[in-house]
Order: sequence, then C-alpha cells, then structure tokens
Amino acid sequence: MAAVNYRSIDGAESALSFREVLLRGIASNGSLYVPTEIPRLPEQTLHHLERLSYHDTGKEILNSYLPDIDETRLREILQKAWDFPIPLSQIDENLYLLELYHGPTLAFKDVGARFMAHTMSHYLRENNLAVAIIVATSGDTGSAVAHGFFGVPNISVFVLYPSGRVSALQEQQMTTLGGNIHAVEVRGTFDDCQRLVKQSLADTEVKQRRNLTTANSINLGRLIPQASYYAWAVAQLHGLRPDRVKPHIVVPSGNIGNLTAGVYARRMGIPIRSFVAATNANTAVPEYLESGRYRPRPSIPSLSNAMDVGDPSNLARLRFLTNDDVRQLRKEITALSVTDDETIEEIRYTYESSGRVIDPHTAVGVSAARRVVRELNELRPIIVMATAHPGKFPEVIERALGTTFPPPESLQRVMMLPKISTVIPADYPPLKDVLLS
Ligand SMILES: *Cc1c(COP(=O)(O)O)cnc(C)c1O
Repeated sequence: MAAVNYRSIDGAESALSFREVLLRGIASNGSLYVPTEIPRLPEQTLHHLERLSYHDTGKEILNSYLPDIDETRLREILQKAWDFPIPLSQIDENLYLLELYHGPTLAFKDVGARFMAHTMSHYLRENNLAVAIIVATSGDTGSAVAHGFFGVPNISVFVLYPSGRVSALQEQQMTTLGGNIHAVEVRGTFDDCQRLVKQSLADTEVKQRRNLTTANSINLGRLIPQASYYAWAVAQLHGLRPDRVKPHIVVPSGNIGNLTAGVYARRMGIPIRSFVAATNANTAVPEYLESGRYRPRPSIPSLSNAMDVGDPSNLARLRFLTNDDVRQLRKEITALSVTDDETIEEIRYTYESSGRVIDPHTAVGVSAARRVVRELNELRPIIVMATAHPGKFPEVIERALGTTFPPPESLQRVMMLPKISTVIPADYPPLKDVLLS
C-alpha cells in the first residue's frame, strides 16, 4: 500500500510525515492536519482480518500511516500501548458493545493517548529531543493523556481543565500524579481551555522555548490509532455471526475524534454500513447534518460531560474528507441527540433488561441505537462504542439505579491521594507564566 503523507486542511503546509504532524500537533496558523488520502486495504488483508489478534489488526491498519516505523517496531509499540483487552459483548438481540474502557483510566481515550505516548517516545529517543505537551480536557482526555505520558522521559505535560466541571474522580486522576504531569485548573469552560491551548500553540516564544505541542484529539497521533478498533469490532462481530452483515456503529460523540477515526476505517474498506453520531444536548453536529450550516455554540453541561463540546474541532476533518459536501456526509453519518432524562432512563432500562451497568456516555449511544431500531425498524446489528467504565460516574449510576456500586479498586486508591493543581483565570497571560516557569 502507498505510504500516507499529511497536510494542513488549508493547504499551507503539505508533504509532511507522521512524525512531523505528531510532534507539531497543529499547523502554525491553527489549521488541522489530515492524511492527504485514506489508503484502501488490499482485499486480501480485508479478508483475513477476522483471523488476526488485536495487535496484528492494529498493525495492518496503521502500517501505511507510519511508513518510517518498521513493522516489528510498530508491533512492539502496539503491544506496550494496548496492554488491556477490548472485547465485544452482546446486550440485546442485535445490539453489541465494544468495551473500550479497560485501560488504566477506564475510558476509550487510553487507546489513542497510550499509542501517542509510545510513538512519541520512539521518535524523541531517536532524535534526543524534549517536548512539552499541552492539552485541554472536558473530563477524560486529561487523565488519559496524563497517565499515558506519566514518567515518559523527555516529556512534560500541562493539562487544562474547567474548574468545577469535571467529576471528582476525573479531577483526582489528573491532579495526583505529579512528576512530569502539571494540572492547570481554569476558572472557565472547556471551550475557554481549548481557546487557551490554541493561543499557547500560536505563541512562538512559548512554542520555541518549551518545544510545545498538543495531545488533544486534534493531534492525529491520537486519532488515527483509533481506526484500529473499528476493524477489530467488525472482525469480532463476524466471528460471532456467520451472516457477515455490515453493522451500523453508534459513536457517543463530543469533539468527534472517535467518529472521524471510524469514518477513516470505513474508507479503508472495513465493512461498516453507517455511523450514528450520538450527542447529548450539545447539538452542533446534528444541526450541521440537518441544515448544512455549521454554527458553533457555547458548550452546555450534561450528565455525559466528556461530550460537552459546543464547537467540535474534528468536524473540519470530516468536511475536508467530503469536500465540504454535507450530502456526502449524510450518506455515511446520521446524528441523534439524547437528553439527560433519556440517558438516565437508558441506564435503568439496560440494567433491567440485560443486567449490565453502563456509564452515561455509553448510555447516550445505546439510547440512540434503540431509537434507530424503533423508528427505522432497523434489523441489522448495531455496535455501540462503550466509551467509559460505569465506575467512573457513581453519582449518575446511583441516580439511575438507586443503588451504589463500589468503584473499581484502582479508582478507590486514586481518591485518597492529595490533589496538586495551579488555579488560573481564563486568560492567556497567567497560562503563559505557568508554561514558562
Ligand atoms: C471524550 C469522550 C467522548 C467523546 O469522544 P470524541 O472523540 O471527543 O467525540 C465520549 N465518551 C467518553 C467517555 C469520552 O471520554
């Protein structure tokens, strides 16, 4: 397969390598990086995906995106990064969950963040370089990135999160590591945090002195590896079902990095019928698909807080992929919005009907999936991306089910540790001081 190269969406930067886009994060003018084209897997590879392990599936998917890392080394990176299982389980007749939450922070962002950390460390060691990573989080990104990079030599990490808008547990996961991980608590919203990150990356003084880059889902180094588990999900489904029907895939969505990776996987030839982007009250994506006009909004707080994004950055990548033709995007993606009440109702229904406890983000996806079955009379299998472990959201689970479940032991331990963070107002100068100190 031809090796992939990369460009910025606006075309100002082109013919870049994976290493370059990984270390830079975002183009100097703020444009996002994208693969110049999505390579289609050879038919032969597509046919034997079912027989591969998860790591070998990842290797097949990612090979052409990182042509400068040889296959043996790539497989070592994948084995180190993805040291947890990603099983597919059934919760109803045609309804499946891809359990993406068995990593160290119990959410799917571990998959991308850990791949990025190990790939970056590979390149940095090769070149004897040091970098600082800045990341904005509405909940789970920060902890995934912090844990992914914790203790990795030559890398320091700054995590910006909106004060009072993440769960106690999410906050503990970001603020208790210490060492090379710095937590910055911003008195503002997630969108303020994102804006501050963009400002810092556009500040040449900071960028040069600290060799600053980002690890948000805007970094392709986190997004592209996520394409692997779409292939893995379909392979597991076809292992269970000899009819080999193409499934629909529901993606609980915020900044739509996960969804974008799914669309890449489908373009590579992975047999997926269509995607459903399941959002909460933050409806920029459903509105864009419906009207063809994009209107970013301030984010609205919800029970699925890692999806509280009013201005999803990755929409630019999907628009690039479809030449900004919304009709083309509609053929691949439908979008549905789910309320907090429906989210609670879904946690309850899924528990009563299958005995499974699901987290509020996964519940948004499952609720959207059931709506597709009910309203469109869809009989094909549907896979929901289960993005977080329910143990991370004890308050919501208690509200839905009336009982508490003890959180997993790893989380209980984190809750006991002392919190260390720097509090700043939502302005750039104080952030700059932190970054340069
Ligand atoms: C980040 C996150 C999402 C949203 O993923 P995007 O790639 O930003 O769309 C969904 N669920 C959970 C648990 C998350 O942490």
